[in-house]
Amino acid sequence: MTDLYAVIGNPIAHSKSPLIHKAFAQTTGQDLDYVAIEGPLGRFAETVDEWRNKGLRGLNITVPFKMDAFAYASRRDAAAEEAGAVNCLTFDGAEAEGANYDGVGLVRDIEANLATPVKGRNVLVLGTGGATRGALGPLLAREPARLTVAFRTPGKEQELRALFPHAHALDFAAYADLDAPYDLVLNATSATLSGEAPPVPGRAFARGALAYDLAYGKGLTPFLRLAREAGVGTCVDGVGMLVEQAAEAFLRWRGVRPETKAMIERLTVPLV
Ligand code: NDP
Repeated sequence: MTDLYAVIGNPIAHSKSPLIHKAFAQTTGQDLDYVAIEGPLGRFAETVDEWRNKGLRGLNITVPFKMDAFAYASRRDAAAEEAGAVNCLTFDGAEAEGANYDGVGLVRDIEANLATPVKGRNVLVLGTGGATRGALGPLLAREPARLTVAFRTPGKEQELRALFPHAHALDFAAYADLDAPYDLVLNATSATLSGEAPPVPGRAFARGALAYDLAYGKGLTPFLRLAREAGVGTCVDGVGMLVEQAAEAFLRWRGVRPETKAMIERLTVPLV
């Protein structure tokens, strides 16, 4: 019987996950189907239960259900606990195992695809939302020299600090106080989605730095334009992160890691 997987979100029509997973299945010779579910707001658990009754084996979770999925999971991996969010559920009988592959997907894209080691580098992460929370653990595990999180709203950084009390490389700064150049600058704010750039000063970009916007499919975003004007070496968006987190989920479900390069190239929108 063909195994069934899905992504759930609201809205979901834009999701690239069915395309990605079906292509992974084809290239790895796996017999599976993958559908998109528009989850009704406030009915996450009931909707997932219904699909499990139809034989659903695994589920990717996107906005706005990652915290519902966290609550739904009967057990969770360390990354999910750290992120406070689940982006992948694996069903095994009565168990629903929750994982979060966003952070590991991001780091894999930076290190493996973009050949940019995090170890020993100065890394700046913009924003204190869900994407930052999921990225900090995997980034810190790669031993950056310094990892600064820039915040807009004072107080939001305290919850993140509490999650990593022993991370000496980790510090926090208001945008106006960013005074050093960083080798990697990651835009994990949602500013791109409203057509804006976060207020990061040009001095925060080292010459030749990597500027990475976690948003994807938007071309040259206001953040990437700002970074280019500041003289960075490379500008990329988050399509590689999206594909790499999907590959992690596929590996968990099927026991085989799909090639990601062709899919990243296929989904890449020129930065113009
Ligand atoms: P959240 O809503 O959880 O957090 C948004 C953050 O952005 C908050 O810290 C908010 O600050 C800050 N912010 C919003 N607008 C501005 C602005 N104009 N200037 C400065 N800060 C701003 O969003 P997520 O963390 O879930 O998502 C962040 C980004 O990451 C999105 O673009 C999303 O698409 C992307 N993403 C990409 C993924 C991928 O696979 N490539 C996966 C997951 C996310 P405040 O608290 O002050 O309001």
